[in-house]
Amino acid sequence: MNCLNIDINKVETPCYIVSREKMLRNMEILDGVRRRTGCKMLQAQKAFSMYALYPMMAGYLDGTTASGLYEAKLGARYMPDREVHIFSAAYKDAEFDEIARICDHIVFNTPAQFARFRDRVDFSRTKCGIRVNPLYSETETELYNPCSPRSRLGTRPEDLDMTLCEGITGLHFHTMCEQGSDVLQRTLEKFEEHFGKYLYDLEWVNFGGGHHITRADYDIDLLCREIDRIQQKYGVQVIMEPGEAHALDAGFLAAEVLDVFTSAGNTHAIIDASAACHMPDVLEMPYTPRIVGAVKKGRYRYIIGAQTCLAGDVIGEYSFDEPLSPGDRIVFEDMAIYTMCKNNTFNGMALPSIYITDENGIPVLHKRFGYEDFVSRL
Ligand SMILES: *Cc1c(COP(=O)(O)O)cnc(C)c1O
Repeated sequence: MNCLNIDINKVETPCYIVSREKMLRNMEILDGVRRRTGCKMLQAQKAFSMYALYPMMAGYLDGTTASGLYEAKLGARYMPDREVHIFSAAYKDAEFDEIARICDHIVFNTPAQFARFRDRVDFSRTKCGIRVNPLYSETETELYNPCSPRSRLGTRPEDLDMTLCEGITGLHFHTMCEQGSDVLQRTLEKFEEHFGKYLYDLEWVNFGGGHHITRADYDIDLLCREIDRIQQKYGVQVIMEPGEAHALDAGFLAAEVLDVFTSAGNTHAIIDASAACHMPDVLEMPYTPRIVGAVKKGRYRYIIGAQTCLAGDVIGEYSFDEPLSPGDRIVFEDMAIYTMCKNNTFNGMALPSIYITDENGIPVLHKRFGYEDFVSRL
């Protein structure tokens, strides 16, 4: 195994293996941006909320951001002494007081939401902001585009009624997905065009997530220049809240080949991991994840699919130089993000075990799930 210093036959499948070493490398890169610019760096928990690693991550971050009360509680509990930020498209009356108690920053989707809850915020300790829609996104997948005409996310420039916003100290936008700092630069141009005039009177601006900062070809210098420029021009502090970037390429999903057969000229390999249950972005995005050892044009081609009843529960078509047989292990790459936190037990599929590598790169079993985990949710 070239990327993981382990004997993959020693783990139980299906399982996620999170590499502590790769996480650390990502954290150091993100911390570098934070130190160079003085911006705040948060972890968007919805992408990766393996709180076992929060104590390690806390040393490199200003805190976490949450999509709702539960994630906020998780961040507050497992990253204590760090900030908790939150954005939700709308807050529930029954949950708001707890949110206001836990969170240092609350971002509201509309001025009306802020006006509705503002009396329940202690402004001496909690800062409030509005998420805005800069009407510019280079995200082509409609599922991930918060600037489409039917989007509910963020207040459009013409709807930002500042008379309802007295007490807010910042603005938030989130319009990117797995993108570079060149996209951020173009987005900022539009953001400033629509909202720059308000920033002079505010304290902070949150650039959201979708920044692929830890990817090898990411232009970190350009990111830092843009953060510096905005901070100097408007006298605000920039907040970054990437999710993926923290755990990018830091995790694997190992599965076992259960059967191999040919049908209508296609050779199928059935494995004990499922796209629908364990890597839903494969179907939602959609995309084909990399497999360690798969090649472009190998002698042996397989359609790799799950045990489930869903006809489309196929991870992809792959080829290898060596044939696959039942009992073989295959390892999907970049599986720490948007996986564990999106898992489900459709078809009664097992939830993958979770391993974390130790200082020597050896995976240590962290969690194992069973029948009871399936039953307890029904
Ligand atoms: C999803 C999301 C993030 C994190 O996005 P990544 O693509 O994982 O970096 C940050 N902020 C908000 C508001 C989000 O919805």
